[in-house]
Amino acid sequence: MPARAPLLGLSRTTLMALVSSWGFKPVHAQRVWRHLHAHVRDDFESIDSLPAGLLGRLAGETTTAWLPVAHESASRDGFTRKYLLQLDDGRQVETVLMRYAGRVTACVSTQAGCAMGCVFCATGQMGFERHLTTAEIVAQALHVARALAPTGERLRNVVLMGMGEPLHNYDATIAATHILCDTAGLALSPSRMTVSTVGVVPGIVRLADERQPVSLAVSLHGATQAARAAMVPVAKTWSLDAVMDACRYYCDTMDRHIFYEWTLIAGVNDGPEDAHALGRLLETQRAHVNLIPLNPTEGYAGSPASQHAARAFQAVLVEYGLPSTIRQRRGIDIAAGCGQLAASQTERHDQPKG
Ligand code: SAH
Ligand code: SF4
Repeated sequence: MPARAPLLGLSRTTLMALVSSWGFKPVHAQRVWRHLHAHVRDDFESIDSLPAGLLGRLAGETTTAWLPVAHESASRDGFTRKYLLQLDDGRQVETVLMRYAGRVTACVSTQAGCAMGCVFCATGQMGFERHLTTAEIVAQALHVARALAPTGERLRNVVLMGMGEPLHNYDATIAATHILCDTAGLALSPSRMTVSTVGVVPGIVRLADERQPVSLAVSLHGATQAARAAMVPVAKTWSLDAVMDACRYYCDTMDRHIFYEWTLIAGVNDGPEDAHALGRLLETQRAHVNLIPLNPTEGYAGSPASQHAARAFQAVLVEYGLPSTIRQRRGIDIAAGCGQLAASQTERHDQPKG
């Protein structure tokens, strides 16, 4: 028996081709698509005048695969809700719903684990397990959209900043962004969808060559090759110079700016000399810097920069004409740092009883 098609991973065009190959009309495919992606429902029997034969084919030959919640937690401040979602093979990935300044953002994972090994990152400390499929990436954003349904809020922003490196799973990630931006579905604006990369140079160049309309964030953390390589092992493959060349190429080709992420670690990269080095690196670039105080993880001894150090860092960037934002460490009480919920669950499972 052929494998059942994962409905959430099909583009509207592919779904229409499938439905017409079964002998049904495009209008029926459109209704199924809207039901799934605009109403975020899979009770197809409630759709008006859908042929019974089509219901049978959908039930027998496709899967909807909402991801069941293995664990859910809310931060004390009420702004962050974190879901550990269960994949078919028993693996778990995290998806976070964040409310900030009246906006709702979903933070979505693209891989189970990550191969890049950044020293301070809980996902990196887990190692690589596997790529997520397009359906699994789409399902996470739709999970947040469904969770919002009772409040009437709409999901408007998606950041691909959960577990994993999106550009190491380029095809599935980009296909998911297209599905989530489809105007007959969730209809997210592509510029409100941000792909964050550790600096996978071929992926950055490909985003530009393909004119992918999503926003781009590049994680730097160090402004010299040596400082960066100490935190980000893949800097040995894609040097800081190569990353900056790719970034310039991206900005020129796309005629837009890049967000740069900088995890602020006390005594490691939060001093004025680090800020000046970053200022010199980016002063001729179209850049916005996001400063993220470290979320401490089990496997890394560093601690977060103080609020005072973060502000002083920001003041130096102003001297170079660089706009920046200090990210709130929202939901710290529920371990809302990258990969931390999944990692702590794993540890709990691994601990001997008694
Ligand atoms: N792999 C991609 C996207 C996922 S990580 C990337 O590295 O960009 C998303 C962001 O969270 C990155 O900027 C990463 O450096 C940051 N991050 C990871 N672990 C963190 C931690 N413990 N504290 C603060 N930021 C962290
Ligand atoms: Fe992977 Fe990003 Fe974590 Fe680095 S920071 S290990 S690239 S998820």
